[in-house]
Amino acid sequence: MPFEFSRFGERFTRPTGAFELMDDLGRALAEDRSAVMLGGGNPGRVPAVEALLRRRLHEIAADDSALERMLERYAHPAGDLAFRSSLAALLRREYGWRVTADNVALTGGSQSAFFLLFNLFGGEGGGGERRRILLPVTPEYVGYADVGLEDGLFVSAQPAIEELPGQLFKYHPDFDRLELAADAAAVCVSRPTNPTGNVLTDAEVARLDGLARANGVPLIVDAAYGAPFPDIVFTDATPHWNENVILCLSLSKLGLPAARTGIVVAQESVVEALTRMTAVLSLAVGSVGPAIVQPALDSGEIVELSRSAIKPFYRTKALAAVDLLRRELAGVPFRVHKPEGAFFLWLWFPDLPITSAELYRRLKAAGVYVLSGHYFFPGLQEPWRHKDECLRVSYAGEDDVVARGIERLAREVRAAFGAAKP
Ligand code: PLP
Repeated sequence: MPFEFSRFGERFTRPTGAFELMDDLGRALAEDRSAVMLGGGNPGRVPAVEALLRRRLHEIAADDSALERMLERYAHPAGDLAFRSSLAALLRREYGWRVTADNVALTGGSQSAFFLLFNLFGGEGGGGERRRILLPVTPEYVGYADVGLEDGLFVSAQPAIEELPGQLFKYHPDFDRLELAADAAAVCVSRPTNPTGNVLTDAEVARLDGLARANGVPLIVDAAYGAPFPDIVFTDATPHWNENVILCLSLSKLGLPAARTGIVVAQESVVEALTRMTAVLSLAVGSVGPAIVQPALDSGEIVELSRSAIKPFYRTKALAAVDLLRRELAGVPFRVHKPEGAFFLWLWFPDLPITSAELYRRLKAAGVYVLSGHYFFPGLQEPWRHKDECLRVSYAGEDDVVARGIERLAREVRAAFGAAKP
């Protein structure tokens, strides 16, 4: 007989997009070695990053105090102090931001930072009122969708769509329709955006910050793929921070997802709150990521590596993937979101005769794993056909695997449209 769970237990064990996706991909990897995996959020293996990791692990293994710091001591609940100081110094050097270690909190991956932040601000307020997180542009990161301790945590908005030459398009916040309701507790955007590869412009970010500030709420910017590292950004976007902004960074997309290191840069009251929450939930934050990366913060190697190795690694892959798609899908009515960052292509098939969920199933049967776009509209209530017309494809994997996946994908899409190859 299964035991009875509490409301909390029921809430966090029910089917969620995040679990389904991770489970599906995990099983596929374990069971079918020939599966073509374009579905996950795993970073690619960048040789220069792997060389840095290897070098650091040797250095740490040979150094008593470094080994002790990495594995044998609990860190402070805000995270390793030396790492936080080095990161603050890097942000002062690179961007002139007035931050110290007291503006930096570490978490067990940025995913758990979102759990803490969204529930810190959203949910039932002191007067019993409901407070919600505004996602001003959907599609938006699926990982936000289920972290709320209560239902209905998000409210989100449809974007404006700009059609661009070369079968490209770009989403923008639709400021004409965007309003911050009285119950808004925070505004959140990922920049670059997972799943679309969109990078909001500097003007758009400044305007969202202004809107949030005018309502006395923070703007949370999820820069898991952004600057200063891993800097998978192909436009001229400027990183944005001030006391009204809560900037979330991560060591994952740089190449260290297994170290589970999330970084929050925020005003001191937010850092203090996160620190207290971490002490309750997990006593301390892991030090593996900080111990490996800290010297590269001090020397600036991490910034240089991001600019000269990581960014070009993904830019080359993005261009190749878009070229191949154009060739393979010639004659099919498709669009690609302009790849401006992160490592995904967001494909839109206007008037797709089947849903993207059905297309996902057909692709899975053909041994290709992508993600159906319908997961990526957390909080968007109104019906919108667009939600069922899109797919997310990762191009982070080995080139030949990505090429094989795109070829098979094109075959299934053609079949769905009843279009022969010209
Ligand atoms: N934010 C975005 C936009 C992501 O794509 C991801 C992971 O895919 C995360 C946050 C969470 O990353 P992590 O918890 O590994 O830092």
